Amino acid sequence: MKEIPNAIVCEGCDAVYARIPLKRRQVSNCSRCGSELDRHAGDQNDRILPLTIASLVLFAIANLFPIVEIELQGLRSQTTLIGAIQVLAGEGMSVVAVLVLSTTLLFPLLQLCILFYLLLPLQRSRRPVGFGMLVKLMQRLRPWGMIEVFLLGVLVAIVKLSSMAQVVAGPALWAFVGLTVLLTAVLSFDPRAFWDMAFEPKEEQAA
Ligand SMILES: [Zn+2]
Repeated sequence: MKEIPNAIVCEGCDAVYARIPLKRRQVSNCSRCGSELDRHAGDQNDRILPLTIASLVLFAIANLFPIVEIELQGLRSQTTLIGAIQVLAGEGMSVVAVLVLSTTLLFPLLQLCILFYLLLPLQRSRRPVGFGMLVKLMQRLRPWGMIEVFLLGVLVAIVKLSSMAQVVAGPALWAFVGLTVLLTAVLSFDPRAFWDMAFEPKEEQAA
């Protein structure tokens, strides 16, 4: 199907509307079914940079501190994410190690760094070098960040291990929980909003 420029299709009933530029805090709704069609991204854009910075801080905590500490017959052992990946690689499970490394560490970190790189200059109405390519890359990376899957796996392992050993959740586990929530908010950021921000400065100055 050919895409019509500047058209919005209602997600509720498939009605097609022409896009009207919205002002701050304005929301447009479908006149047939009432579903939300479009929303001015201003407020969301202001929130997304602080959320990205908070995510980067949590990301650092999640990777530098131990996830769990296990105590079994007086022996204590703790592991960080990197430590767990090294063990996996050492046990001959290199494929799993690479998967965990990319989906839990590399891709989410890359996404956060790109977001930060794009949003910082956009706040001052400047478009950074490589803008179009990076917005596209963000889209490509989106399905590959799987911190929530990793977190679920860790929680299942903790429950199973807790019958055999004493398991204490480390600071990184809580950071992962927070990161899962923050990343959901940050990565639900509509990539179209980057373009709105990049082409919007005139309206901002006039206001
Ligand atoms: Zn509708």
